[in-house]
Amino acid sequence: MPQTHQLDWQRPFQLQHLPTDGKQFHPNRDEAETEFKALRTEFVALQERLYAEDKQKLLIVLQAMDAGGKDGTIRNVLKGVNPQGVRVQSFKAPSKEELAHDFLWRIHKVVPARGMIGVFNRSHYEDVLVVRVHNLVPEAVWRPRYTQINQFEKLLHDSGTRILKFYLHISADEQKERFQARLDDPEKHWKFSLEDLEKRKFWPDYMAAYEEMLRECNTEWAPWYVIPANQKWYRNLAIMRTIVYTLRDMNPQFPEAQDNFDGVVIE
Ligand code: AMP
Ligand code: MG
Repeated sequence: MPQTHQLDWQRPFQLQHLPTDGKQFHPNRDEAETEFKALRTEFVALQERLYAEDKQKLLIVLQAMDAGGKDGTIRNVLKGVNPQGVRVQSFKAPSKEELAHDFLWRIHKVVPARGMIGVFNRSHYEDVLVVRVHNLVPEAVWRPRYTQINQFEKLLHDSGTRILKFYLHISADEQKERFQARLDDPEKHWKFSLEDLEKRKFWPDYMAAYEEMLRECNTEWAPWYVIPANQKWYRNLAIMRTIVYTLRDMNPQFPEAQDNFDGVVIE
């Protein structure tokens, strides 16, 4: 099986030593795109069975720095999948009502139901990332969240949800290039803000927060995948592989017919 970039929960690691460059894992972009398209066809077929079976659930969590490729991943990976069986949920800064509840309240409400694939564009992990880096709550509040998240994800797992968590790992240089492209192209201005630049100044703090989060919340029931994401074509392939291998393993089946159709003739 090709390298999936699943984080080994027994091996110590440093985020700065995990690759952002995908080229070393796949020398040929054309071949990667061919494999990606074949896997996407398989994904569409497996998703149909998951929906028809109406038993299991799949939750895909996407986390990344700004311009890390979350939107592009969703656009490319979900293309062609029956929209009825997928729910994409983006998490922005919490509303007043959301802030009046525990941090998992808004998350739990939108986890995938039976037969569904849920995709989180940002997630409950923001509550140990942006919240930590910018001191939105004291450490005494955010630190216990690692355990709270692990327990929450265990609950989802125990109730039939497969969980895949992808951190799209780009380098600071790559983010700079992508920001510059957004700045240079008026049609990309909507994706860019001065706040993004402000957050870029905290890059090392974010990396420290990501590293600890990856270490604390990489569980058997909800593993993290650290995807080298500087090349979009490799990122797409690596994520698609893991999704398809997981769905193969879940092996959803079309359900039996509800009625006996023997001898049925349609007049
Ligand atoms: P974007 O993904 O570019 O639309 O930006 C969404 C913004 O919402 C990002 O700046 C996130 O850091 C922010 N955000 C998401 N969740 C939270 C949270 N729980 N607390 C504070 N900010 C958040
Ligand atoms: Mg943004």
